[in-house]
Amino acid sequence: MRLICAPSAAPRGLPNRKAALCVKLTVWGSLELHIYPNASAVVRDLSPDEPVILNRPHAAARAARFFAQKFPGKSLYAVKANPSPDLVRILWDSGVTHYDVASIAEVRMVRSVLPEATLCFMHPVKTKRAIAEAYHQHGVTTFSLDTMEELEKIVEATTADDGTQADDLNLLVRLRVSSDYSELSLASKFGIDLADAAPLLQATRQHCDALGICFHVGSQAMTPFAYVQALERVRAAIAEAAVTVDIVDVGGGFPSSYPGMEPPPLEDYFGIIHRHFENLPISYSAELWCEPGRALCAEYSSLIVKVEKRRGDELYINDGAYGALFDAAHVAWRFPVEALEDDLTEALEEFSFYGPTCDDADFMKGPFMLPADIQAGDYIEVGMLGAYGAAMKTAFNGFGAAECINVANEPMASLYRGDRPDPRESDNVVSLR
Ligand SMILES: *Cc1c(COP(=O)(O)O)cnc(C)c1O
Repeated sequence: MRLICAPSAAPRGLPNRKAALCVKLTVWGSLELHIYPNASAVVRDLSPDEPVILNRPHAAARAARFFAQKFPGKSLYAVKANPSPDLVRILWDSGVTHYDVASIAEVRMVRSVLPEATLCFMHPVKTKRAIAEAYHQHGVTTFSLDTMEELEKIVEATTADDGTQADDLNLLVRLRVSSDYSELSLASKFGIDLADAAPLLQATRQHCDALGICFHVGSQAMTPFAYVQALERVRAAIAEAAVTVDIVDVGGGFPSSYPGMEPPPLEDYFGIIHRHFENLPISYSAELWCEPGRALCAEYSSLIVKVEKRRGDELYINDGAYGALFDAAHVAWRFPVEALEDDLTEALEEFSFYGPTCDDADFMKGPFMLPADIQAGDYIEVGMLGAYGAAMKTAFNGFGAAECINVANEPMASLYRGDRPDPRESDNVVSLR
């Protein structure tokens, strides 16, 4: 890479700007072609001073195939979990055809990468201009809402110049449900209360081709029961409003595996959701949707960080609260870690981390289990950062840079490797029948 950057590598005779562009493309191309076996090989080769994001395309493809084959309905990838164009293409190639987008920038990005994909604009509060661009320029016909005002906005923004109202809309009313069974709540910001849902469902029915109800049980739902209580609320909403419902969208929340958070098999979630969906008072042809973010991409990435300083059981590393380790700092998420030096002791101790910025809040409590003799200059791999990790990086204080490199080895944990217990033997699931 450094060789290619030498001035002599620029094609002769091109104006400077074009030459620079060529070089950059060559560098990207060469990085993409080079696949390292694992994090240790990257450290041996590059001794990186800045964090390195390691991507595992095979892991994301495996998760996508799992959802495409086993979820008893449609799986929409929630793009916010990791908006990498490379990842979006990997998911598409492995069978994910629908994408949950929440901003016009996400609409444009997915549309530019995947001209054929179905995009669903599932943020319940959008600008009229964003709705209009999504509908008229990018072919988006699916929108969510949780107020009458948003319904009016959608109807106005999708009406043609001659006053003809759109007749191809799929409109999903977002219902507020409990986040009690999840590690991260999504219950307070969006969603209409069950008590107020009937008039909104009835009004929405007048303006759409297909009417749906959606919800989000919160991220990292540790038991399938999270979806059962939510689907019971959907049942009550349908009964109260007495409308025909064509789509039930159970949202995201499907878990991944982290230290201290080992969820039941995803097959259990799928089975229980399917049974309760089938028992709802909905049309025979009604569709079941879900919107996994975390579960599709958590295993996609890990991160190499360097220890810059040790102070007792605190390690000063080069990523943190304003980087890919945002959740480790802000919600004390415990990501798995491994030291990348061979000659360290096997005795592990509890450490906490400081990130690189000058902000006191740039602190990650952990605990992170690492060799007792780890010290400045050593490298650590932090695993399971494909979801809400790589996506959270900012340039605050000048510390945003990170190279992306593909690696071939397995993620530190996986829900999809086939070496977990048989779902039917799981005793970790709330019994429902
Ligand atoms: C964030 C989000 C998701 C994805 O949630 P995960 O917990 O990552 O699966 C899905 N749908 C909506 C509307 C969201 O806001």
